[in-house]
Amino acid sequence: MILAPLSSSSLSDGLRLKKAIRMKLDTDTSTSWSGSASEPETLPVPLARTGETSRDSERANAPAKSPKPRLRKIPPGLRRRRIVFSMEPVWYKRLVWRLKEDPQFLRSAVQITFALLCVWIGIEFHLFVRWGMSDGTESFFSRPPGVEGFLPISALISLKYWMQSGIINTIHPASVFILIAILLIGLLLKKAFCGWLCPIGTISESLWMVGQRLFGRNLNVTKWLDYPLRSLKYLLLFFFVYSVWQMDVAALKYFIHSPYNKVADIKMYLFFAEISSFALWTIVVLILLSVVIKNFWCRYLCPYGALLGMASWFSPLKITRNSSTCIDCKLCTKACPADIKIHNVARVWSDECMSCLKCVEVCPVKNTLEMRTRNSSEPVPSWVLGSLVAGVFVAVTGLAMLTGNWGNEISREEYARRFQELDSPVYQHFRGEVAPYGPQD
Ligand code: SF4
Ligand code: SF4
Repeated sequence: MILAPLSSSSLSDGLRLKKAIRMKLDTDTSTSWSGSASEPETLPVPLARTGETSRDSERANAPAKSPKPRLRKIPPGLRRRRIVFSMEPVWYKRLVWRLKEDPQFLRSAVQITFALLCVWIGIEFHLFVRWGMSDGTESFFSRPPGVEGFLPISALISLKYWMQSGIINTIHPASVFILIAILLIGLLLKKAFCGWLCPIGTISESLWMVGQRLFGRNLNVTKWLDYPLRSLKYLLLFFFVYSVWQMDVAALKYFIHSPYNKVADIKMYLFFAEISSFALWTIVVLILLSVVIKNFWCRYLCPYGALLGMASWFSPLKITRNSSTCIDCKLCTKACPADIKIHNVARVWSDECMSCLKCVEVCPVKNTLEMRTRNSSEPVPSWVLGSLVAGVFVAVTGLAMLTGNWGNEISREEYARRFQELDSPVYQHFRGEVAPYGPQD
């Protein structure tokens, strides 16, 4: 197995490096640190993996305007070596090795797996709706409970109902457990759900990568516009949470058992299947904005992202920078898709950090940038982080299945009847309130 060594860094190494740099700066006005003939070497950081474009590279190599020299070389003792995976000839060993040691490879594998799971749920739900809309002439396919992951409002209402009444609702029980799983991931692992699992996050990331390929870079939104835009998702979250907060147990129960809520998933399907031109154009505009601006939807509009951003402040794990060994190369900041100025902070508290580990991967100095808790000197390896993200989700949803709280209580006959009544006023909602309904509805 060919693995370039990553020996552990030490504080004294870092202090020696800092001292050497300071001495060099005092005696040398050049913009690079040459060091002794046997020591430094150009950084072995591939531009493609840092997200740096050739234009960025040219800019980085241009003479610095500021009096502070741009350090591009590090001593061998602190140099982080790259692993050459292609040197492993056996494909399955290479695959396992890469999953263990290459954070972005592992993250892509987890993202693709979860996206495929969502596609599978989508196909099953399509077949279920096709059966319902066909008046029973098509073959029956049971409704996949996982579709309730796309009903966040119903999940929020169901969670509050559970907390206040102690009863898990039987209409969309899976939605509550999916929401709890996502919240737990946020509380423990920052916004890792956005960076590792969320299918919308995966699509957003793919879109800005397409934009980077097409145009060489993505647009940077200026700070005076970025901050107000980022607050939009918090306003949306506040609106939803405040609306649910005001509901008492009776109102929550009335909503949960309403005909509207019982077919909320079918309504959502029909919204996209019979999409209006306004909604279609809105989606097209969002896609175009996501191509030119990194994570446009997630950063500015997703209320789930806002909720997880707030939960992430409580996470014990954070990206942590060792300032004694950091050489201020700013590669981490350049690589960060959330535009966080990592090179300036000791710990990343930002509500935008989605635990993608791109910054950790590009840092050229050993043990300088890591995902870890405040009191631990041991970093959390990427494979442990990935396992925890997937593990928490599987554990919570698995618990729902084991305890009989995954599928709902709506029978096939009831669904067949409701499919025929979908246009009835009782299945509408007005300004956030469900239409009045009786015991027979
Ligand atoms: S700080 Fe690091 S882990 Fe967080 S979003 Fe930026 S690159 Fe990803
Ligand atoms: S923490 Fe960031 S600025 Fe410091 S050495 Fe690593 S990549 Fe460079």
